[in-house]
Amino acid sequence: WEDDRAVSGRRKAKQLKQKRKLKAGSFETLGLSVAVLKGIRRKGYQLPTPIQRKAIPLMMQGQDLVAMARTGSGKTAAFVIPILERLGGHSTRAGARALILSPTRELALQTHKVVGELARFTDLRRAALVGGDSMEAQFAELAANPDIIIATPGRLMHHLQEVTGMTLRTVQVCVFDEADRLFELGFAEQLKSILQRLGEGRQTLLLSATMPQGLAEFARAGMKDAAFVRLDAES
Ligand code: ADP
Ligand code: MG
Repeated sequence: WEDDRAVSGRRKAKQLKQKRKLKAGSFETLGLSVAVLKGIRRKGYQLPTPIQRKAIPLMMQGQDLVAMARTGSGKTAAFVIPILERLGGHSTRAGARALILSPTRELALQTHKVVGELARFTDLRRAALVGGDSMEAQFAELAANPDIIIATPGRLMHHLQEVTGMTLRTVQVCVFDEADRLFELGFAEQLKSILQRLGEGRQTLLLSATMPQGLAEFARAGMKDAAFVRLDAES
């Protein structure tokens, strides 16, 4: 009976641990895969931020989404985590399935790094298409058939015009990160052109700290029944 008691004690401890993990608002309650949860843990995130708690479930339902929240609120993981869930693993089919647009080279490379960290326990492939790096090196990256492309609009357009056969029709999720800055920096024309090249059924996400008029119009034109998530400074 000693053994039985030990087993039951261990089971109780395990159940308690499980219960703690499932406490309201933890990453474990968001229905994520083991591989992605491991990546989140390895990155050192204990609990989702408010914007992540709101945006991840909506994105996982396939919703188009406009998320407005201040800088530093955790918007990167809010869109990267659902992208990883949606894509699952590497696909040998030609063409990327997720596209993340960033206003600057620095931000794109930072996002590329975060994608790598969170996707560490998946076999998803990523590529950064940013200005300042050689086109040849990026051709080689594209040849490896990345699942996720992180790009600045100018360099992406350059690739679309130069690489025969590069298409965005395969993109299922498109993210406009720091959308207010994308517009401030004068990328509006490129963004419209990119939008036109995307597949019909894709999911579109727009993240921003502010919502100027031009941006709101762009969102209306490029998205379908977008949910609007707004978190103010104190959230
Ligand atoms: P935003 O894009 O909203 O400005 P970021 O996505 O760059 O914010 O995140 C800001 C900082 O918060 C980063 O250092 C990021 O690693 C960290 N962070 C994001 N989510 C979490 C989390 N759930 N737990 C702890 N830190 C987080
Ligand atoms: Mg950001």
